[in-house]
Amino acid sequence: MKAAVFDGKNISIKLVEKPSIQNSKVIIQVKEVGICGTDLAIISGDLPTPIPIILGHEFTGEIIEIGQNVEQSWLNKRVTSEINSNIDFDCYYCKRGLYSQCVSRKAIGIDIDGALVEYIALAPYLLHELPDSITYEEATFIEPLAAAYQTFEMMPISKDDKIMAIFGLGKLGLLVTQVASIKGLELIVIDASEKKLNLAKKFGAKYLINRLSCEDIPKEIRNLTKGLGADIVIDTSGNPDALSDVVESCRTRGKIHVKSTHGLETPINLTDIVVRELTLYSSRCGPFEKAIGGLESGKISVKDLISKKFKLDHINEAFESYKTDHDHIKTIVEI
Ligand SMILES: [Zn+2]
Repeated sequence: MKAAVFDGKNISIKLVEKPSIQNSKVIIQVKEVGICGTDLAIISGDLPTPIPIILGHEFTGEIIEIGQNVEQSWLNKRVTSEINSNIDFDCYYCKRGLYSQCVSRKAIGIDIDGALVEYIALAPYLLHELPDSITYEEATFIEPLAAAYQTFEMMPISKDDKIMAIFGLGKLGLLVTQVASIKGLELIVIDASEKKLNLAKKFGAKYLINRLSCEDIPKEIRNLTKGLGADIVIDTSGNPDALSDVVESCRTRGKIHVKSTHGLETPINLTDIVVRELTLYSSRCGPFEKAIGGLESGKISVKDLISKKFKLDHINEAFESYKTDHDHIKTIVEI
């Protein structure tokens, strides 16, 4: 079967052995896979992984075979998968239901082979059935949308939290924009793309800041917030250079939330955080049930976030599309 394999320098289509069925696993015929900033960080060398590795962790597919210990009802189900595999169900975190922090966990497509492949074998505990109303294409957003919901699972909103600034309007930023808008927060969004800023406006953002034309973003944010700064400032850009602006844009006793770092060393002004008593939050994987519910109810819209689609054979063009298109949000690979 075909797989998109990263060899440490290049990604290319290689023929690999199709997985055979094991007693406690299912075989999924992969349908569609989203390309993520994490995949780009692996290819650029910023995020080290075992080599060679099959990439891909935002994926959907149909279960075509089940092991003898797996419930018959899983057969032919349309599914998406959690990213954290090899869970031991026994460690400190697992005993508290925090499976995404299991000490034994291996992230699919990052620590172990992923889903840019025709068939993948997985344990059913990782899988979530897709409602009929959610297409495979839309379902590639469930993993990142779960991460957007996780922002608010980790960070309680208090009565004084009214204004939130969002740095970076990639896929994750635009999903956080939608979830934050549902929560009733007033949103300031910052990006270099007019197209993405206008999309954020459609999703409920009130103030748009184009970082290319704004000389002093923290000052602009203070101007919009009676000189105080935003109550919550979130970075979804993964750009270490943005973080000084993130800290400076937050009001005293406010909340900073960091969503992605892509393995890079990240300078941050701890003195400012200490002196102004800011609280630093972070989050990554999140509740799939909430993400599926958000899509199913129509409260979250992902159609406008799909920039390009490619067949698996054109995997290099799929990755290139991120580099060449300034307005690019998300590429999906059809297997
Ligand atoms: Zn565990």
